[in-house]
Amino acid sequence: MAQLQTIPTRPARVAALNRRYRHRAAIQVLREALSDPELGRVAMVSSFGADSVALLHMISLIDRTTPVLFIDTQMLFPETLTYQAEVAAKLGLTDVRTIRATPAAIAAADPDGDLNQTNPDACCDLRKTVPLNRALSSFDSWITGRKRFQGATRSEMEFFEEDPAGDRIKINPLAHWTARDVADYIANNRLPRHPLVSKGYPSIGCMPCTSPVKEGEDPRAGRWRGQDKTECGIHFVNGKMQRIPPAAPAPFVPADGQPVIVRDSGFGPEDWTGPILDLASDADLDDPDLRVGDATMIRIAFPSFTDGRGFTLARRLRVAGYKGRLRATGYVIADQLPMARRSGFDEVEIDADLARRQPWPHWRDAADAAPSYLKKLGRRAS
Ligand code: SF4
Repeated sequence: MAQLQTIPTRPARVAALNRRYRHRAAIQVLREALSDPELGRVAMVSSFGADSVALLHMISLIDRTTPVLFIDTQMLFPETLTYQAEVAAKLGLTDVRTIRATPAAIAAADPDGDLNQTNPDACCDLRKTVPLNRALSSFDSWITGRKRFQGATRSEMEFFEEDPAGDRIKINPLAHWTARDVADYIANNRLPRHPLVSKGYPSIGCMPCTSPVKEGEDPRAGRWRGQDKTECGIHFVNGKMQRIPPAAPAPFVPADGQPVIVRDSGFGPEDWTGPILDLASDADLDDPDLRVGDATMIRIAFPSFTDGRGFTLARRLRVAGYKGRLRATGYVIADQLPMARRSGFDEVEIDADLARRQPWPHWRDAADAAPSYLKKLGRRAS
């Protein structure tokens, strides 16, 4: 009589893989995984971000024809697109596939490109998770560059995980690497770094949702800064998107003479290291020499506390489609943050003395009560 064969469940397969690969080095995991029948058809998913080049280099040494899926959210930094093309060419990767949301999906869910401001989870779902799951439908397993050191949600990650978004297995060859390991690998192999790393971005995602990180901050602190969001939704644990509860904001003590930035999340130090375009509040946006679209940060100077032209200018920039960071500076006070937010500003820059005189819970509550400027623009459009 024929014997019934028991097919192992996916959790059992993942557990067996983790046992079998337990003592392998990262490149060995990668090498064996690419031809392991247990893992089937394997693709790599890469953001071509700050650390990606290490894993991409390993792939290029093992098999340059491995499919590499690059998710272009159409919200990426221009530097990332340039870097992606350069790295793929340098490493000789022959099957890099750019994945995007369909134009119809974008037109239906995010026609103005501002969903990231009002509902970042939905934006990530639209621009990352859905296109990626569609692209992965012809694969059985996928390689990620995630590492344990990158945060609490990843601290116990193994080489292999179930992918709850599909009947697939995720492979994390760098799970046990430290930030130092990555940096050493990149330096020892003379690999090109993403140009934004040297500008204070240790983790690089989409332009509207990534800000520079100060020394001593968590490397991912610049991703969705100030929001209760730490993952893009592509990565889940036990079937659920992982969130870290937001920490209570600590009172900020401004340094003497240093400007203080007022945001929805509280007072904070200056954290911008990139170029800034300074505009007077009466700047002429029709001036052809004024290339505001190129600026990732615009600072609008208020000439006096009673002069509202800066608010008008900010509204005009937002209505015209400006997506970069907008800051009010000059003669503004923290209490004007709600008004500034309604006008399209992201933040207000005030001097340290002014910050010391304003108890932060007061203005934070005021800021929380401010309706989103994007909702306001949405109402106007409808
Ligand atoms: S990171 Fe930001 S812009 Fe990019 S898909 Fe997510 S919410 Fe949208």
